[in-house]
Amino acid sequence: MTAVTANQRLLDLDLPAAAAELDTLAQQAAAGAWPYSAFLDKLLEVEVVARRKRNAELARKMGNFPFLKSLEQFDYAAQPGVDRLVIEELATLRFVTEGRGLVLLGPPGVGKTHLAIALALRLCDQGRRAYFISATDLVTKLSLALSENRLRTAIQNYVRPSLLVIDEVGYLQLDKLQASLLFQVICKRYDLGAPIILTSNKPFTQWGEVFAHDPVLAAATLDRLLHKATVINIKGPSYRIRDKVAAAKGGDQVS
Ligand code: ADP
Ligand code: MG
Repeated sequence: MTAVTANQRLLDLDLPAAAAELDTLAQQAAAGAWPYSAFLDKLLEVEVVARRKRNAELARKMGNFPFLKSLEQFDYAAQPGVDRLVIEELATLRFVTEGRGLVLLGPPGVGKTHLAIALALRLCDQGRRAYFISATDLVTKLSLALSENRLRTAIQNYVRPSLLVIDEVGYLQLDKLQASLLFQVICKRYDLGAPIILTSNKPFTQWGEVFAHDPVLAAATLDRLLHKATVINIKGPSYRIRDKVAAAKGGDQVS
């Protein structure tokens, strides 16, 4: 009778995991003659663990990631251009708390998106929000929002997450409007001390062209983006085609 009441009270308090474990734990506590405080602690721990897991799963789902890759899956030997110590420091997520950005530069296939996603997933695993979007999608969505007179709310979506990943800046040359929309997001987050991870295949010297041939806007964007940011310039070989390259090399040796 007491257990039923306690179960209902836990459910009323929105503690479903504790409710589900209540009977089992109560039996264990009785059998082991646990102090009341130890029983309560165990019961609450069950709820805390379940809630953390739920939050992490939700954050991963809401993150809009195109694929899931972890830092553990990153092969440093294959990419000597990436300093493991720098990545390990970033993996502490202090850069998020301190509002420092990260810019990953390099040609296609060198692991820029992989690293960006892996770091963002670390944050999700703490139940905090990260959001991934390609630069193209971002400016397309914001242009649409502008034409529908809801730009302010749309920009908020990209300002709210603790971390925003903007992928593939530079693949698409932006027109004036698109460049200004991207600038607005970067600027808003900068003003709030909210960090961005940005990846690009273009060196900063070419950003003037990417930003609608507007070097002033490009400089203003870079100014916000690079303040306190870590820049990783990956120059190594493409991981995507490394098997093909290895196979081709092997073939050469045989012939
Ligand atoms: P980029 O964004 O630089 O074009 P990606 O991050 O998309 O490259 O990497 C391409 C593919 O190769 C992905 O599947 C990624 O997981 C993998 N990859 C790239 N570099 C590495 C690496 N050093 N170790 C393990 N996998 C890698
Ligand atoms: Mg990429």
